[in-house]
Amino acid sequence: MAATTHTVTNQPPPLVGYDVFANDPALTEGIARYVADSRQGDAREELGRLGQAAGSAHARHWGEQANRYPPVLHTHDRYGHRIDEVEFHPAWHRLLGHAVTAGLTDAWSRPDGHVLRTAGFIVWTQAEAGHGCPVSMTHAAVPTLRAEPELAAVWEPLLTSRIYEQELRPAAEKSGALAGMAMTEKQGGSDLRATTTRAEPLAAPGEYTLTGHKWFCSAPMSDAFLVLAQAPGGLTCFLLPRVLPDGSRNSFRLQRLKDKLGNRSNASAEVEFDGRTWARRVGEEGRGIATIIDMVAATRLDCVSAAAAVMRQAAAQALHHTAYREAFG
Ligand SMILES: Cc1cc2nc3c(=O)[nH]c(=O)nc-3n(C[C@H](O)[C@H](O)[C@H](O)COP(=O)(O)OP(=O)(O)OC[C@H]3O[C@@H](n4cnc5c(N)ncnc54)[C@H](O)[C@@H]3O)c2cc1C
Repeated sequence: MAATTHTVTNQPPPLVGYDVFANDPALTEGIARYVADSRQGDAREELGRLGQAAGSAHARHWGEQANRYPPVLHTHDRYGHRIDEVEFHPAWHRLLGHAVTAGLTDAWSRPDGHVLRTAGFIVWTQAEAGHGCPVSMTHAAVPTLRAEPELAAVWEPLLTSRIYEQELRPAAEKSGALAGMAMTEKQGGSDLRATTTRAEPLAAPGEYTLTGHKWFCSAPMSDAFLVLAQAPGGLTCFLLPRVLPDGSRNSFRLQRLKDKLGNRSNASAEVEFDGRTWARRVGEEGRGIATIIDMVAATRLDCVSAAAAVMRQAAAQALHHTAYREAFG
């Protein structure tokens, strides 16, 4: 049989090569209203650059790859040592690196920081939504860490840095770091007072070991986690670094990854703390929820912004598609 050449008609071109920020009237109006006049020019330029990147063919391709090739858990190395690492597709690191470089974890100290960061988050989420989870948690960890100024002095510059370093190393050897949070347990779910993870004080002030589990710990390759555990004085917030100051790995056992319906590019792990897991107290014993709630609240605001971003992108895709299609006359 002779080969036939089939011409594709009545299909849209891909929606790429446009500025996601400049084409969003509500977002541009928000910037006009809420950013100081003296900073308007810089804000539009910065968000315009991010908007072009978010609407580019290469960012859309990264987003597709990060979801097509989901993260893979490696509990052990080839010789049988525990490593508890998650391997992500390079596209995930490109997306995350771009977000960090664009300042999407930095809002608390720069002028108009929250307006600019939220606008940027809405823009960049439209390239891919899953990697927004570590971006959001890293940004959100700052106010909780400030409850312990000595810890904040070390970690805040790393969390708000515009440098993305994916390798796990001690904080002192890094120029940028990511943070996550681990609160939810099997028996408690939303009810954090039902937490059973225990924290035993060590001789050094503020230092503890943890024994227990967490049922949902997203972005488990982050450099540090804010976690809740029962100390002698009640439910308490802790900072748990993946790597200890001497360069050895903290005990942070990744049991398995969740098989999730959404948020697929991101890993969410079940973790266990085996009694050797080292952590630093953040805030007073017994004030755990009051301490971590600042982080939780900031991530929940991002849930709203990211949902708005996904709806915006869905509407843009639908309008673009229908503008190029004809059906039923
Ligand atoms: C993609 C994803 C990522 C996550 N990442 C993390 C993470 O990084 N760190 C972390 O700590 N947790 C994480 N979680 C867990 C998340 O915080 C919990 O799923 C959430 O707190 C709800 O708990 P649960 O799923 O056990 O539901 P439950 O608490 O058992 O709730 C079940 C149902 O009861 C309702 N309900 C609960 N409490 C009440 C109440 N007081 N009044 C009325 N109704 C109520 C809920 O609305 C829900 O419909 C993640 C979850 C998802 C889906």
